[in-house]
Amino acid sequence: MSKKRVLITGGAGFLGSHLCDRYLNEGYEVICMDNLITGSARNIEHLFGIEDFSFIKHDVTNFIHVNGDLDLILHFASPASPIDYLEMPIQTLKVGSLGTHKALGLAKAKNARFLLASTSEVYGDPLTHPQKEDYWGNVNPIGFRGVYDEAKRFAEAMAMAYHRYHGIETRIVRIFNTYGTRMRLEDGRALPTFMTQALQGKDLTVYGDGSQTRSFTYVDDLVEGIFRLSQSDFVEPVNIGNPQEVTILEFAKEIIELTGSKSGIIFEDLPKDDPQVRQPDISRAKKVLDWEPKYDRKEGLKKTLDYFKQQVSQSD
Ligand code: NAD
Ligand code: UDP
Repeated sequence: MSKKRVLITGGAGFLGSHLCDRYLNEGYEVICMDNLITGSARNIEHLFGIEDFSFIKHDVTNFIHVNGDLDLILHFASPASPIDYLEMPIQTLKVGSLGTHKALGLAKAKNARFLLASTSEVYGDPLTHPQKEDYWGNVNPIGFRGVYDEAKRFAEAMAMAYHRYHGIETRIVRIFNTYGTRMRLEDGRALPTFMTQALQGKDLTVYGDGSQTRSFTYVDDLVEGIFRLSQSDFVEPVNIGNPQEVTILEFAKEIIELTGSKSGIIFEDLPKDDPQVRQPDISRAKKVLDWEPKYDRKEGLKKTLDYFKQQVSQSD
């Protein structure tokens, strides 16, 4: 029997590269497609030379061509950190809309299953807590973050339309803040920023008074949830995230403690439309995927620290 083939868009990014590793380990032939605007060939260089791995440099907002059959498309291409999508608002809107349309068109042409990387950002600044998949969200469509949030909301709508109208097998994962190796030091997200600042002995920049909350997921847990969803029959969106919630101030203190740094904390302006709270309700993932996170934050952060130490020492 021939191997199953998966196309991973955004495969040279933080999450995409971990998915390349996982699906290769599961015996898939993996085609990684990326235009490298926020990702890096360094994330996948360990895979070059593996027979079942190939890389295509391509912007998925343009027509996507892939030779041969495909069983699965994981659509992960999109700037993902606030500074990236604020710097690239049009590309972000285009990859969520045009890129998702192209990837779904490819799924239809190849009769492949399609899995969309959506986000907890579809809930915006949520008015219910924790967030369940049936909450419709509180998003400012014309706010700065709207370019990302609305692109993902459109992408979900497009996936469901292809499912309902064309019968495509679609899956939607709503990913909550995830961290781990291969994040860019300078991507502006809380964890890489705090780790880098702490390891360099600089003060950690907490935005606002730090009372806003997030729930951070270790990358291996996320990848497990995504793999299970891709193998399941479940069409409605599924939250994947670790419900362990923490204030950003507390999180900054945890990182100072973990790194043994002498850094202090300074407070800077809270970015506009920054969500006040965020915590996944994961009852659906538990029920339909038998999934729950294995790593608590302390353990996950410990596993991530060595990578940041190495990166920071190389950047000095
Ligand atoms: P990332 O920036 O590391 O990866 C995104 C990848 O997509 C990059 O390699 C980038 O070069 C590529 N890309 C962007 N536009 C493209 C285009 N037009 N054509 C081809 N490739 C393109 O970010 P990430 O954290 O790995 O996020 C991956 C996906 O997961 C994104 O869709 C993001 O919205 C989603 N997500 C991530 C998180 C998280 O916490 N990391 C949370 C929610 C959702
Ligand atoms: N944050 C912060 N200092 C930083 C970077 C981020 O206080 O140097 C805050 C940010 O305002 C938000 C939280 O940390 O409240 C998580 O930010 P991140 O960019 O990681 O994720 P998102 O806001 O997309 O959930």
